[in-house]
Amino acid sequence: MTAPSGGGGAGHGHAVVLGASVAGLLAARVLAEHVGQVTVLDRDDVTPAAAAGARGGAAQGRHLHALMERGRQILDELYPDFTAKIAADGVPTAETLVGTRWYFDGARVTPVPTGLTSVLASRPALEAALRAATLGHDRIRLLPGLRAVGLVRGSGSTRAAGAAQGTGAAWSAETVRSAGPVRSAGPVARDGVVGVRVEPPAGDAPARTIEADLVVDATGRGSRASEWLADLGFDVPREETVGVDLAYASRTYRRRPTDLGGDLGVIISTLPGRRGGGAVAQEGDRWIVTLAGMLGDHPPVDAPGYERFAASLPALDIHRLIQDAEPLDDPVRYRFRASRRLRYDLLRTPAAGFVAIGDALCTLNPLYAQGMTVAAQQALELRACLCSGGLDDLAARYFTAAARPTSRAWSIATDSDLRYREVEGRRGPRTRITNAYIPRVQAATRSDPVLARNLLRVVNLVEPPSVLLTPAAVLRTARHTLTRRGQS
Ligand SMILES: Cc1cc2nc3c(=O)[nH]c(=O)nc-3n(C[C@H](O)[C@H](O)[C@H](O)COP(=O)(O)OP(=O)(O)OC[C@H]3O[C@@H](n4cnc5c(N)ncnc54)[C@H](O)[C@@H]3O)c2cc1C
Repeated sequence: MTAPSGGGGAGHGHAVVLGASVAGLLAARVLAEHVGQVTVLDRDDVTPAAAAGARGGAAQGRHLHALMERGRQILDELYPDFTAKIAADGVPTAETLVGTRWYFDGARVTPVPTGLTSVLASRPALEAALRAATLGHDRIRLLPGLRAVGLVRGSGSTRAAGAAQGTGAAWSAETVRSAGPVRSAGPVARDGVVGVRVEPPAGDAPARTIEADLVVDATGRGSRASEWLADLGFDVPREETVGVDLAYASRTYRRRPTDLGGDLGVIISTLPGRRGGGAVAQEGDRWIVTLAGMLGDHPPVDAPGYERFAASLPALDIHRLIQDAEPLDDPVRYRFRASRRLRYDLLRTPAAGFVAIGDALCTLNPLYAQGMTVAAQQALELRACLCSGGLDDLAARYFTAAARPTSRAWSIATDSDLRYREVEGRRGPRTRITNAYIPRVQAATRSDPVLARNLLRVVNLVEPPSVLLTPAAVLRTARHTLTRRGQS
């Protein structure tokens, strides 16, 4: 077994990661550089054979997943040559604005090189590649088919060691089911989270305890960690939500090289209307086609209704494509009601020994395709905190650090959603100015290559939004706005 890059020094202790999806795998990857043993568990059977397609615990896998450039860069940093390897395995890649088409308000963004690479993998393919690369690390063990049902609070008097602390014993789901609670083997010096309660998903065996120096919640948008923390008497994070009542309907089609004029994708923005969609080439000569509707204007999942919805989008590329292409399955729906953020970063005393990552920390409106990238950014923050101070006082340091990329993405997503007057939320001066200005930038991208490049780089989280606010950018935008007014 080989360690991915950065897998280095002798680590101590045991970390348990709840959830073996994108965020959990990234957390495990960075933890393995610093702790002696990382156990990743998931309620789904995420062994390679079983998890080949979309699965119950990650039902969003049936829908279009775009990996933003910043996320791709981080994957390449944590797993050298990730992009090259997944491309060699048959995943298409494209220069973002050249090989794929983008539309804002029905007008195509001028196709200009952006320096961005789109990795056009299906979500299950991306997750499988990430899982294989992560589990190649010899300090990381997977326990599939185990559901976390609660946390364990340290008594301050006894401390666990034993198998869960990395004695080298092989940990299988069967071992956990049959071994009973791991026994305490030494004095406990701290209060905080010291373990997790697990049971098989069918609930056909009693819950067991896995003890840990750190528990990482990566159980996604359905995380119940707040309840678990409250049950144990810890402070609970405040929850912020922005309701959007969005639904996706997705279907796959056979892809021929001549489809879409040889381009590998088309993205039609929902804004300023409610309807949008994307069609993207994937491994296995398929198109994934996702139609999206905000604020209750949901795409139907019957075939005629699905095609009618595609015909109603502000650009017709997707409709033309699906009229010609052979469907491979029926449309499936995913309903997403609200973006949600848990403000662990604002807690005065977060529970020691516990952190959260990915959707368990912040679930973002999927229209902006940020979730996997933000999870990767949070993983880098976790890594930096482990490098600077190890496990000591990790929770407080990590939640503060992770709030930086999380807040940036949250602002981009929620400010955009607050353009709809039906969306409830506070519209401060920043939101109002952004929502007056950005539509003008979007309009200018149909003819201005510099603004097109910069806007796509902001959307891909490789540049801060401030690049669109430089005097030169504002001037370009104003010039375009005045020219359009003069023409109308
Ligand atoms: C429809 C849709 C489309 C999306 N499109 C994009 C996109 O284009 N680009 C993008 O970057 N992001 C997108 N996202 C977001 C993206 O899916 C997530 O942000 C990303 O997968 C990170 O999720 P996660 O690992 O935190 O959680 P998840 O992927 O939800 O995984 C949670 C894991 O925890 C496991 N689990 C849950 N509860 C328990 C438990 N009690 N015990 C043990 N295991 C448990 C589950 O089985 C699952 O494996 C989309 C989301 C949705 C819903």
